[in-house]
Amino acid sequence: MFITIEGIEGSGKTTQIDAIAGWLAGCGHEVLTTREPGGTAIGGQIRSVLLHPDNTGMAPVAELLLYVADRAQHLETVVRPALAAGKVVVCDRFFDATLVYQGYARGLDRALIRQLHRLACGNLQPALTLLLDLDPEAGLTRAWQRIHSDDAHARESRFEKETLAFHQRVRSGYLDLARREPERFTVIDAVQDPPSVTRQIEAALAAHFSR
Ligand code: C5P
Ligand code: MG
Repeated sequence: MFITIEGIEGSGKTTQIDAIAGWLAGCGHEVLTTREPGGTAIGGQIRSVLLHPDNTGMAPVAELLLYVADRAQHLETVVRPALAAGKVVVCDRFFDATLVYQGYARGLDRALIRQLHRLACGNLQPALTLLLDLDPEAGLTRAWQRIHSDDAHARESRFEKETLAFHQRVRSGYLDLARREPERFTVIDAVQDPPSVTRQIEAALAAHFSR
């Protein structure tokens, strides 16, 4: 089974993915957690190009193609083999992030993005997508605190150069996708403290697995 977790910067995806993996392992599943961009060695190189602070001038289409290249490599070498081995794969960001960041927020044609996804992903769709939703002002405050306490994040962060309006487009893009695909998406209120976000996620997983 393929599960994805999405949300704006500072929504807590990276913290919650460990809780998700722990819950699934507790149910007896073999779990693989991974992320995009950067879930493979080649993807790590692509990620550093994408997120390097000097590269804010990258043409949006070039950026889109690098995200799709990262995804193609990740699916072929990590995600599909793990799914074929019967594992539950939990991925921090997937194609919804590309639709939202490059489509809704940067204005590239979403039909074109979906075409590229068909090329890179074939018919692969997440069974469940957990959207950690919160106001960008709250998310950015958290992300800023992390940047100032964590050099690794600071080195690769481009996001602080974007305007608040950009992050608002990201949030509303995610909510629009969730409205269009209510069967796949569960929206989690990520304003709350991490333990209550974890409880909401566990309830969503339990509901999904009891279907
Ligand atoms: O997942 P994480 O928060 O580490 O994302 C790293 C960065 O990549 C974020 O700053 C996000 O804005 C950016 N990103 C993007 N377009 C995507 C996926 C991520 O701009 N499709
Ligand atoms: Mg993160």
